Amino acid sequence: MKSTTMHPLIGHDQLQTSLGRACHLGNLPSGVLLHGGPGVGKQHLALWIAQVLLCPHKTPSGPCMVCKSCRLSLKVGHPDLHWFFPVSRPKNTRPSNLGAALETARQDSLIRKRKNFLRPTSAYTEIQGIYLATIKHLRNQVYKRPSMGSSQVFILGDAQAMISRDSTSEAANALLKILEEPPSGTFFLITCDILRRLPATIISRTIPIHLAGIPTSEVKNFLMENLEIEEKKADKSARLSRGSIGRSLGFLTEDENEGTLEFARQKSFHLLRACLQTNRTLIYQESIKLAGTSSRTLGPVIDSLGDALRDLALFILGDQDKIVNTDTIRFLEGVCSKRNIHPRSITESFGYLDQAKEQMDSNVNAQLIITNLLINVQEKLSGRSK
Ligand SMILES: [Zn+2]
Repeated sequence: MKSTTMHPLIGHDQLQTSLGRACHLGNLPSGVLLHGGPGVGKQHLALWIAQVLLCPHKTPSGPCMVCKSCRLSLKVGHPDLHWFFPVSRPKNTRPSNLGAALETARQDSLIRKRKNFLRPTSAYTEIQGIYLATIKHLRNQVYKRPSMGSSQVFILGDAQAMISRDSTSEAANALLKILEEPPSGTFFLITCDILRRLPATIISRTIPIHLAGIPTSEVKNFLMENLEIEEKKADKSARLSRGSIGRSLGFLTEDENEGTLEFARQKSFHLLRACLQTNRTLIYQESIKLAGTSSRTLGPVIDSLGDALRDLALFILGDQDKIVNTDTIRFLEGVCSKRNIHPRSITESFGYLDQAKEQMDSNVNAQLIITNLLINVQEKLSGRSK
């Protein structure tokens, strides 16, 4: 895959128009919350809004693109543009040094983001978070004077990472205090995947804006034109992308390795095969392979299993044009020639996928989650369960 620095934002033209106008008129609220699926362009849009806010020559249609401020913003090097996002907790660090170590990790990550802006969604498997020490660092910066103009812009990407498993965290409370009384000329552009993963108190301090997925055709064109991906591969990744450029990248080969989402997709078909057996042998074999893996890594596999099941239902219903795993049609044909599966039993099995994802969030053992999921789906598909 060709690496790339910041490229024009794809597929959110209407939002850009209305947000650009609001920035020009000085109407943008100090807290904006961009939410939508992973990789759909939330942080990219936030960087664009930041560029508009900081550009002294902005017009109703956006930033001037040529002034010093714009050139710095485009390189994510503007001194008044502060971009925070989840990082892995540095290992072997004493609590007193944690703040500094987290800041070093963020700066290292910023260097990588500047070099190669496009990163596949779900490319990391380590636990990442936004910790209290990072929000304290952000707060110190909020109360400093801007370096170049009269505004400072803070982007807080994937803000759901502030929240630890079942409770509101100290980091979220610290952020709330800052949002309650922001200094004038300070803007917060917060992004998260699902709105309900943030505390209501934070949501109520912002204007939430939803980013929908973009048309598959636009994802495909982007891959072909900007990354020089050949048409067949671009088509396949775009179909699987759910309208997210970040997700589409996960199905491409990177440094000769299969993309992480492609790996999950192949795994999900092994799991579907196991569910289609009449006994549980394959189910146990597949589950054993997951011994010792972190349940957090199951998300993409469970999502892909959902896509595979949906494709099976579409095949049974004769709606092949909507199938996203186009390379599995012969497999689906084989399944349907041997068995009579009711599409309703497929749609009813989706509830088990949601249940598995909830267990994943509660850190239940990965092997147990998959065994239960596959047995439930197997029984549903065979018509044995109600
Ligand atoms: Zn400018």
